[in-house]
Amino acid sequence: MSRRLTERSIDHVVLERGEVANSWRTDRWDSLRLLTPNWQTGLPGFAYAGDDPDGFMTAAEVADHLGAFARALDIPVRTGVTVSSVQPHDDGYRVLTGDEEYVADAVVLANGGSGIPVLPPVADGVPAGVLSLPSKAYRSPDLLPDGGVLVVGASASGVQLADEIARSGRPVTVATGEHVRMPRTYRGRDIFWWMDAAGVLDERFDEIDDIVRARHVPSPQLVGSDDRRTVDLGSLRARGVRLVGRLGRLQDGVAQFSGGLANTARLADLKLDRLLDRFDEWAAATHADVGDPERFAPTEVDSSPALELDLAREGIQTIVWATGFRPDYSWLDVPVLDYKGRLPHEGGVVVKSPGLYVMGTSLLRRRRSTYIGGAAQDSEELAEHLTGFLAGRPVAADAAV
Ligand SMILES: Cc1cc2nc3c(=O)[nH]c(=O)nc-3n(C[C@H](O)[C@H](O)[C@H](O)COP(=O)(O)OP(=O)(O)OC[C@H]3O[C@@H](n4cnc5c(N)ncnc54)[C@H](O)[C@@H]3O)c2cc1C
Repeated sequence: MSRRLTERSIDHVVLERGEVANSWRTDRWDSLRLLTPNWQTGLPGFAYAGDDPDGFMTAAEVADHLGAFARALDIPVRTGVTVSSVQPHDDGYRVLTGDEEYVADAVVLANGGSGIPVLPPVADGVPAGVLSLPSKAYRSPDLLPDGGVLVVGASASGVQLADEIARSGRPVTVATGEHVRMPRTYRGRDIFWWMDAAGVLDERFDEIDDIVRARHVPSPQLVGSDDRRTVDLGSLRARGVRLVGRLGRLQDGVAQFSGGLANTARLADLKLDRLLDRFDEWAAATHADVGDPERFAPTEVDSSPALELDLAREGIQTIVWATGFRPDYSWLDVPVLDYKGRLPHEGGVVVKSPGLYVMGTSLLRRRRSTYIGGAAQDSEELAEHLTGFLAGRPVAADAAV
């Protein structure tokens, strides 16, 4: 967004509580690599220029990439400045930091979609002596207490952590709710190649039936690795990971799980087949140069998975919560949040408070907004809207669409 504002000669400042790319320096586990291929991390005027476009950057490499972008474009960023409040002020906003105050006609909230780990209420029932660890606080298997691990959640973080912890030799159980199964490669191409080529990543927020739900669909079961392996319930099971249903209760040291594991897995299989059908139709219509259509075997799960586990008896010493995130708006003192604390917006335009924008959250304007590279197009369109707002031009909520 800063680059777009500079292009339009709009005076601005970027306030960052840590360093540039802070989330990639502080909030990721040691082994994390992007699940999106490198070619997909291009930023405006700063395409990926390395020699491995189909590879997957480590978190440190992402931080370097973003840092290099900020330096190359001379982004006016003030680091080590935490915004403590954004308030309405005259026709604009007052922004407070520890010891400074800014007055701005417009504010773009680019504080990320993963500020706060979302833990289900059952997390309150973790017994004393068992480590309760949100995925954001996990670093590596070596730092966990000895013993078994229960991973709650089977989306990208959950399956990656279960896989890594199981490889370290510990017994792992995964509590599995709704999830999105995805192969790493399909018909000889990376799955993100397909999603890009077939137009999935370009689906816009205003074309999707239930956008609120779509913004909360779990991340796909994918990992970025040199061997381009697929990680899903099948691969975890083959590695000896115990799969159980959704965690429903945790009381007196006993975890209870739903009996719906087979159904949840079946649903994910069906949705995967639907996605692959769409890819096949696109490939046929465009005569794409790809391999032959494939279908993956249905996910196998135990017919009667455990419904109850006594943590002490099972030797489970750690529970890792891979149950998603939400943005942190605790410092936003503009009355725009809904009763669930969510920020309603139209593709990043906070309609209820003119001049307020948001970026960098799931499915903000289109499916690719969920990923780093999506910022290129989103920033262009939102900057255009913002420019109109500053110029006093009447701007409809969907003018940026
Ligand atoms: C575990 C995980 C894995 C991911 N993997 C991928 C992937 O493989 N590929 C991909 O494309 N995307 C991935 N993403 C999504 C990706 O992180 C986001 O798309 C991207 O980080 C959004 O960038 P951002 O700058 O908007 O937000 P963030 O990277 O979250 O940055 C927000 C910044 O705001 C700062 N900040 C927050 N609050 C304040 C405040 N009050 N005052 C001052 N500064 C503040 C933070 O310090 C931070 O630096 C992943 C996300 C997570 C959580």
